Amino acid sequence: MKTSTTKPAASRPSRASRSRGPSARELIFGDLWEFDPAPETADPHIRSSYGLFINGKFSPARKGGSFPSISPGNEKKLTYLALADATDVDAAYSAASKAYEKVWSKLPGNERGKFLYRIARLLQDRAREFAVAESLDGGKPIKESRDFDVPTAAAHFFYHAGWADKLDHLAPGRQVAPYGVVGQVIPWNFPLLMLAWKIAPALAAGNCIVIKPAETTSITALKLCEVFQEAGLPPGVVNVVTGAGETGAAVMSHPLASKVAFTGSTEVGKAIMRSLAGTGKKMTMELGGKAANIVFEDAPLGQAVEGIINGIFFNQGHVCCAGSRLLVQESIADDMLTRLKLRMQSLRVGDPLDKNTDIGAINSKEQLTRISELVKSGVAEGAELYQTPCRLPSKGFYFPPSIFSKVTQSHRIAREEIFGPVLSILTFRTPEEAIEKANNTAYGLSAGVWTDKGSRILKMASQLKAGVVWANTYNKFDPSSPFGGYKESGFGREGGRQGLLDYCKLL
Ligand code: NDP
Repeated sequence: MKTSTTKPAASRPSRASRSRGPSARELIFGDLWEFDPAPETADPHIRSSYGLFINGKFSPARKGGSFPSISPGNEKKLTYLALADATDVDAAYSAASKAYEKVWSKLPGNERGKFLYRIARLLQDRAREFAVAESLDGGKPIKESRDFDVPTAAAHFFYHAGWADKLDHLAPGRQVAPYGVVGQVIPWNFPLLMLAWKIAPALAAGNCIVIKPAETTSITALKLCEVFQEAGLPPGVVNVVTGAGETGAAVMSHPLASKVAFTGSTEVGKAIMRSLAGTGKKMTMELGGKAANIVFEDAPLGQAVEGIINGIFFNQGHVCCAGSRLLVQESIADDMLTRLKLRMQSLRVGDPLDKNTDIGAINSKEQLTRISELVKSGVAEGAELYQTPCRLPSKGFYFPPSIFSKVTQSHRIAREEIFGPVLSILTFRTPEEAIEKANNTAYGLSAGVWTDKGSRILKMASQLKAGVVWANTYNKFDPSSPFGGYKESGFGREGGRQGLLDYCKLL
């Protein structure tokens, strides 16, 4: 760190501009010292191009198509990815089906478990390299990919490795069996972690896989294929096809898929459900959310501020369970707004690979456009916008941390998933009003409750229509804890015994 005589770092607002914000009642560290850049320099080992991973080998798409993958942090090209069409997807399913019949279905659970342990350990060995690749490819801050995404992905493989030989205890009194071949499609917000959420339970349960990562974030999926090779995973057990929505549709609709698991937007999830109606395929849908984070006047406010900030700004707000609607009790609303503005000023926005960065790059230009459009609608509909006066990098896709006060339930920013660093603040007077407002959404993925009273936590949790309710904390994840939604947030669970059961037939 340097003294304040040095040039301000790119993401810090000047002291003069900060003084226009709420009165600084507490010390802001950067007032005294500026941060030097602290770039992560480990080599992510990204190849200049990647083929499709089919039957244990990387091979080009049959028609030779490819597309570039860029880094949202600086718009530089990272690699070229193969563009899979229906014939490639068909080849992937044939490989998966053969691997299931000839190898995977014949292995006892403890042998499958050994592969999962190996994958987990190899991922840990290459954790730093994976973290850098994830931040470069997706735009998330290195401290998040390093401390959350990669370790949690490894934890999912470890957890499910432990289950692989204990499936007899999964559903007491019932026998379970794998589906055979499963098709999976995942989004771009937690590329490696979503991959682990999907692959680890499916393999532990004895299935083989065809999976499509998101078009903008496929690199760590392909790097994980190198880990599969290193771990000696039999060819065809996991097949990764890259491409856009059409490739995803081919993965979901393939006749050899007995079960499909989709994570993504509610809109695409509904389209997949419509197209698969009547096919008899078992489905799991992990879709969008618009979570309420509810703060009562008796809550530990300092702690709540941290939970609110984490709830909305973690991973640039690209989080399905983001606490994007803050419901704050009217008596503390002004105080809370002042505290939030103050805390937001210490968030550092900028280079995803800088270890000081709190908020990295928006994943794509399209997503940046969508966020900007929704924020404009919030202003036009009469909500009051506050953005921290930070300087954004000139290259790459960035959006300043934003909060809206004076939001009403009819505003688009209170109803639609923004999937960006934008918080909408609403108020309530009674617990009943908080519940009514929190549940007044088509979604039902997650919620947060902040209060000193245990009895109130239990009452709120039982009345909130959300798959996950956090109390006096937010964004806590564990492989043993099931995650999933109600209503238009989807159905089925990921993680824990329940998530594993979703990859098993009950006999
Ligand atoms: P999309 O629904 O646009 O895409 C998700 C995946 O589906 C991508 O791989 C995409 O490919 C693919 N896809 C697109 N069209 C089709 C189609 N017709 N058939 C099959 N697959 C298709 O979502 P986003 O990638 O924008 O992800 C953000 C969404 O994901 C948010 O709504 C978020 O809430 C949700 N999400 C839900 C989670 C949960 O656990 N409930 C967790 C994480 C995110 P391509 O990338 O090429 O477009």
